Amino acid sequence: MPSIKEILSKSANRLRKVVRSPIKEVSTLLAHSLQVSDIWLISHDDEIIEIPKDFEKFIKKREASYPLEYILKQTSFYGKEFYTDDRVLIPRPETEILVEKVVSICKNMQNITIVEIGTGSGVISVMLAILLPSAQIIATDISEDALKVAIINAKRYNVQDKIEFVRCNLLDDVSEKIDVLVSNPPYIKKDEKLDKNLSYEPRCALFGGEKGDEILKQIIDEVVQRDIKILACEMGYDQKEKIENYLVNYNLNAEFYKDLAGIDRGFVIKNRNKNATIQPPI
Ligand code: GLN
Repeated sequence: MPSIKEILSKSANRLRKVVRSPIKEVSTLLAHSLQVSDIWLISHDDEIIEIPKDFEKFIKKREASYPLEYILKQTSFYGKEFYTDDRVLIPRPETEILVEKVVSICKNMQNITIVEIGTGSGVISVMLAILLPSAQIIATDISEDALKVAIINAKRYNVQDKIEFVRCNLLDDVSEKIDVLVSNPPYIKKDEKLDKNLSYEPRCALFGGEKGDEILKQIIDEVVQRDIKILACEMGYDQKEKIENYLVNYNLNAEFYKDLAGIDRGFVIKNRNKNATIQPPI
């Protein structure tokens, strides 16, 4: 039978072509299947063990680029651990900026209603419920499966009573007056070629339509029609100009923001121009 050290180096070799930090990943995966800490593993690496069956399965999955977060059923977001599986998009670090934007705008506002469109794993709504304790939060998603995951995460942080989960498209079943709208919607163009790892994430969380910006535009339409004062929304790296042009039709201004890599990533509408029209754009 092999030693822990041997198992780690052999499996790391198998993953070398597919993952960025093979040693780190195989250690995490072996620790996960043995239910021990990474530190324990490193300090016992001369021990001889039988290769755990699920570890072999994990390595096979990683060889096929299946995401680590889905194997571990865990992702960190905003410094907290969230449950994640392949019913939802894996929360991305850049989405933390979206949460920060909403918190900085809303921290001195009391008893407001914040609605999130397309909550997925629920990380945005859960963080907002934690950071803005007086806010009422409604989180929608078209996917029943995604809402199940979001509820697991709300329960994990004991905010399930602060968030109302609604299964619907956009805001179709939300009749409340909305103060703040937030969303990280699907915004990728239908036939865009994606990295293999993305192929395991739900298509409905990724693809925004033929051009990709269809849902973003529908969200802007909702903001105008419902007279919502604040919108914070994530978008794709190449969508700034399209969104800007679309907003011009409504006489609306947005502040665009970049992610930590300096890539255009989202926009915030907070000072609705008094002359903003409610005519549908041409
Ligand atoms: N709101 C979730 C997130 O930001 C899911 C987004 C999505 O599925 N497009 O991670």
